[in-house]
Amino acid sequence: MDLHGNVSADMAELADVIVGYDTYPHVDMFERAAEAFELLAGCAEGRIRPARALAHSNMLVVPQGMMTEQGAMKALMERAFEMERTAGVLNVTVAGGFPYSDVADAGMSFIVTTDGDEALASRLAQELCLMAIGFKERFGVSALPPQEAVAAALAAPEGPIVLVEGSDNVGGGAPADATHTLARLTNLPKRALAVICDEAAVKAAVLAGVGGSFRGPVGGRHDELHGLPVELEGKVRLVSDGEYRHVGPYMTGQLAFMGLTAVVQCGNLTLVLTEKRVPPWDLGHVRSLGLWPADYHIILAKSAIAWQTAFGPFAKGIVHVDSPGCCSANLAHFRYGSVTRPVYPLDEGEPRLRLSVFSSPTQLDR
Ligand SMILES: [Zn+2]
Repeated sequence: MDLHGNVSADMAELADVIVGYDTYPHVDMFERAAEAFELLAGCAEGRIRPARALAHSNMLVVPQGMMTEQGAMKALMERAFEMERTAGVLNVTVAGGFPYSDVADAGMSFIVTTDGDEALASRLAQELCLMAIGFKERFGVSALPPQEAVAAALAAPEGPIVLVEGSDNVGGGAPADATHTLARLTNLPKRALAVICDEAAVKAAVLAGVGGSFRGPVGGRHDELHGLPVELEGKVRLVSDGEYRHVGPYMTGQLAFMGLTAVVQCGNLTLVLTEKRVPPWDLGHVRSLGLWPADYHIILAKSAIAWQTAFGPFAKGIVHVDSPGCCSANLAHFRYGSVTRPVYPLDEGEPRLRLSVFSSPTQLDR
C-alpha cells in the first residue's frame, strides 16, 4: 500500500498482510513488493500465520509533515524498523493517511503483523500510535501566503529556492494549474521556472511555433479554488511531445507523458505548458525540455514532498506556500462530512486511539 493509505478495520481484517511503503518520497516500491511477496509465499506455504493489529490515531496529517527523512515521521519509522527486528514480528506499516479523502477512516494509522501473536501485534501498534499522538504538533507545516513566499525566495542570496505549492499537489489529485503563486512570478528580477497544465495555452503556443510569440491566459481553468487565469506574454522556445523516462530514484525507468508541451519565455519566467497533469517526480520533468534546475533562482513545485526526487539535490532553500487549493496543508479550508469525529486537528481535545486486532486463520486457510 501507499504510505498515504487510509486504513480501515475491514481492510486489516480482510487482508492477510498489509505492507506499506517505508519512504516518502516513495523510493522503496521494489523492496516493499519483494517483502510482500515473501510474506504471501509464507502464507501460501503455511510457514506463517499472520495476526494483525491496527491502531488508528484519529489524526489527519498533511503530506508535508510526513517526509520520512526528517522530524516526527523519521522517529516513527526508526521505531518501526526496530520493531521489525523483534522476534515474531513480520511487518510494521506506518500509514500516514490521506487527509483529502473525506472517508470514515481518513488519518494516520499503524498496522503491525506478527506470526500468530495478537498480543505482541496489539502492544506494538498501540505504542507507535501513542508515540505519533505525542508528536501531533510536530506534523504541522509553516507556510507563507504567495506574495510573501515569493519575496522570501527573492531575498535568499543563493538559489534555487523551491516554492512548494502543496495546495496544487499534482500527485494528490490537484489540477496543476493553480495561479495563486504563478501570478506573483511575472516581472521578477531573478529567473523563475514554473510548470502549468493548460491544454488551451499549450495549443496556442504550438500554433505560434518555436520563435513565435505567445500571448494569452494561462492556468486557472478548472475551478475558482485554484485562482483565475493569468495573462502572460512571451516567446516560444521549444515544443515537445512531453515524453520522458524517470532516471531518478522515484519510479525509476518508467515513462511519463506530459502530452503536447511548450516552453515559453516570459521575461525572467520560464513557463512550461503541458497538455496533461504530470507531477514533478523526476528531473526529466524539465531536463527533457533542455532546462536545468540550477539555472533558476526560484522553482515552483506543484507537489508536497515528492518533488524532492527531482529538485531536492539542487534546492538551496525551501519555502512552503499557503494558497487555497484541493490539497492545501491548511485543513481548515475544507468541510468534512464523513471522517470519524472527533479528529485532530479539526476537533479539540487529545486524539483517541482506535484499536482493532485480527488473528489467523488467513484468507487462504478459509
Ligand atoms: Zn503516496
